[in-house]
Amino acid sequence: MSILKLVKRLGDLTNFREQQLIEESLLNSLLELVPSYYNALYQVTISPPDTIGLALTACSKDERYTGTVDEGKSLPPAIINGIQEALSSKESMMFMEPASEEHIVITPIIHNGDDVEAVLVQSCKLATHGQQQISAGLLRVYSNFLSLLQEHSQDTLTGLLNRRTLDEKLATTLQQQQSEFADRRKDHRAAWIGILDIDHFKKVNDTFGHLYGDEVLILISRLMEQTFREDDLFFRYGGEEFIVLLKADNPEQALIAFERFRLAVEKHHFPQVGYITVSIGIAMVHDQDLPSSVIGQADKALYFSKENGRNQTNLYEELMENGKLEEEAIQDGEIQFF
Ligand code: GH3
Ligand code: MG
Ligand code: MG
Repeated sequence: MSILKLVKRLGDLTNFREQQLIEESLLNSLLELVPSYYNALYQVTISPPDTIGLALTACSKDERYTGTVDEGKSLPPAIINGIQEALSSKESMMFMEPASEEHIVITPIIHNGDDVEAVLVQSCKLATHGQQQISAGLLRVYSNFLSLLQEHSQDTLTGLLNRRTLDEKLATTLQQQQSEFADRRKDHRAAWIGILDIDHFKKVNDTFGHLYGDEVLILISRLMEQTFREDDLFFRYGGEEFIVLLKADNPEQALIAFERFRLAVEKHHFPQVGYITVSIGIAMVHDQDLPSSVIGQADKALYFSKENGRNQTNLYEELMENGKLEEEAIQDGEIQFF
């Protein structure tokens, strides 16, 4: 195997920014560097006491390979045992799978700290110690690179996704929504964004100090993660403003999700600080020209919530339908450019 090939593959791998593309590049590189039938990457979830869940996240196959790669539900017992062993020792291991007589190499992948989050299963044409080391080395590059990207995409105080990531996610969601809608896809689900802004947060800082204010921001973030669904995305948009991006079948369902959060905050007792509330504005992500237009619409709904008593959720489309936003503009006697 030439060093040139390896260096080129490392360059390819670190050229991507999306996890899915990085993983595909990693597996294709491995297929080239270590002659294999297939490489499969599994996301590992361990639920107490010791049930291991495996979900296939990426896979690459030799073009002549005719077998199927298991989704993770019914892997051969020898591979499951091997995965268990690699997970507990945190070391890679290799053996011959009796049924297929394929050489299997299993390598645990450890991101950020100690927990094994994924495993690589390689079915090699010939497993050697040197090949095992190449796989382990490349996986370390992948894992470190992923950690770096994750750090770069997060807000340092709350650990939520940051504003830079919001711009990227919103742009891809907008594209996805537009093309799914144009193709009349049956499984199409609308996406919604909600801006959440803490009411009278300045008072919290003024009364209790910035450190308590920061603590409230962290607790609000945890409440978001507990109240919304696991696959919803949470961003810190600015100082005391957050954005949630989620899928919901209709406006009512979107409203229910955000109202659940608003009520959870209203009921929550924050140490020292007591009770606080949030105002929310929601908008549907559909055929707006730009991510900033989507945010602008949610922001108008948020502004309406603030102007009409705070601690409430309003939907941009509903406000428009009921003529409430134009009325606001006229009442204020201001010229507003929409
Ligand atoms: P409203 O109900 O109209 O939203 O009132 P508000 O006081 O929440 O809004 P305003 O925009 O006047 O003040 C926001 C405050 O948020 C001001 C700033 O001190 C505070 N803030 C912004 N970022 C941070 C932060 O990272 N930590 C802390 N502790 N406070 C922050
Ligand atoms: Mg604000
Ligand atoms: Mg505020």
